Amino acid sequence: MYLYNSATHKKEEFKTHTPGHVEMYTCGPTVYHFAHIGNLRSYIMEDVLEKYLRYAGYDVNRVMNITDVGHLTSDADEGEDKMLKGAKREHKTVMEIARFYTDAFFEDCRKLNIKRPDVVEPATNLIEDYIRIITKLLDTGYAYLAGGNVYFDTSKLQRYYIFNDHNEEDLAVGVREGVEEDTNKRNRNDFVLWFTKSKFEDQALKWDSPWGVGYPGWHIECSGISMKYNGEYLDLHCGGVDNAFPHHTNEIAQSESYLGHSWCPHWCHVAHLNTEGGKMSKSKGEFLTVSLLEEKGYDPLAYRFFCLQSHYRKGLVFSWENLDNATVAFNKLLSKIAALDPRDGAVDEAVFAELKEKFMKAMDNDLNTSMAVTVLYDVLKAKANGATKCAVLESFDTVLGLKLPEKAAELRKKQAAAPAADGFAIISECGEENADIEALIRARADAKKAKNFAEADRIRDELKARGIEVTDVPGGAKWKRI
Ligand code: AMP
Ligand code: ZN
Repeated sequence: MYLYNSATHKKEEFKTHTPGHVEMYTCGPTVYHFAHIGNLRSYIMEDVLEKYLRYAGYDVNRVMNITDVGHLTSDADEGEDKMLKGAKREHKTVMEIARFYTDAFFEDCRKLNIKRPDVVEPATNLIEDYIRIITKLLDTGYAYLAGGNVYFDTSKLQRYYIFNDHNEEDLAVGVREGVEEDTNKRNRNDFVLWFTKSKFEDQALKWDSPWGVGYPGWHIECSGISMKYNGEYLDLHCGGVDNAFPHHTNEIAQSESYLGHSWCPHWCHVAHLNTEGGKMSKSKGEFLTVSLLEEKGYDPLAYRFFCLQSHYRKGLVFSWENLDNATVAFNKLLSKIAALDPRDGAVDEAVFAELKEKFMKAMDNDLNTSMAVTVLYDVLKAKANGATKCAVLESFDTVLGLKLPEKAAELRKKQAAAPAADGFAIISECGEENADIEALIRARADAKKAKNFAEADRIRDELKARGIEVTDVPGGAKWKRI
């Protein structure tokens, strides 16, 4: 498989430390609020990557942290602790906030059919591990104490900027407008490993340490959690593109300095989902969550389909219109699959293998999910029986996670049950449910039955004016948007 590696800036053949086995790490959510659908774009694409690695025959151990301490409002150790901000906003304790939003995150994941990683560890569970790592970094001269905090000394590294070659001035953090520069730092991009001198008197979570009562910096948690559950050699590290600097850069700095050897050769970053107005935010305007999509009548899996239609390394623009288009395409796909009969014949292994090869070729090319979605349509068009097509689609769906077999079966059941209810079946060709339109189609059928053809024609015209085409079929009518 070829996968783009942000550490080398190239598409590379994916290789692992132990053949056939992948140690994979994903940066998890900061649980101070609901995840927005931008965050979830990253988790959807990482889920597809994990599922594809398994599909391609790897055995995968996937680890993820839950950030419940140490992530300040600026990624550069400045500002307020995000968890504390969440607790204040809701008049709850930090632990209550963490528990509530961790559960909410996994509920969103369930709705989006994102598998839970093999290991999920809240940052606050491994404080002893961070203390051990920081102690060694201090002993070996990679870290220093200043003003009560422990900092990592980036000048001790031969190469600090792994993901970008920008000059230090451009990247300098802590010098943004309105943010006070931390004068304890020896170098501008040095970062905090352990805070004792908290600017926030009411910091809720504190632990004893050799350097005083305090709490860990944000970056150390991922190194500590990964080294504990993935071991010393990580194969693949993922996150959203904003994590590359400073978070992932700092993870590499501290992990390699601690281990004394290289840590993770392959880094995968998912590009952002933005709104038409720009950056997606949890504080400005409409807060785009999975629940909001549901409230507006969208199927969360239609959002997953929307994400899969584009490449993970390209920025994606969210708009309701774009989601509408994806929903129509998803529903059409489902109704075409529902029209297949899984009991039609026996699976043709040669056709299965041919289509699987095409699917894997797309996915082996830097996880080209939009091409893989196109292969779904190739399956529908293939010269093969229903059993073969259904088996192939079921197989691809173990990677794409769109619940195609389940949803198609539901649709088939619904369509079969409809005539039994009142002897008149209304089939939506695009899978869309719309009570208004169904009522008009039914009224037209009643008018025809009563030989009121003028009324029947009037209703047909009304539907047409609304962009709906109705076709009579035995026992009912089918409709679609034109
Ligand atoms: P956070 O909860 O802020 O720590 O972020 C969780 C994950 O979402 C991280 O991997 C981020 O890099 C990623 N992320 C943040 N914003 C976006 C976005 N707009 N689109 C895609 N991924 C994002
Ligand atoms: Zn991380």
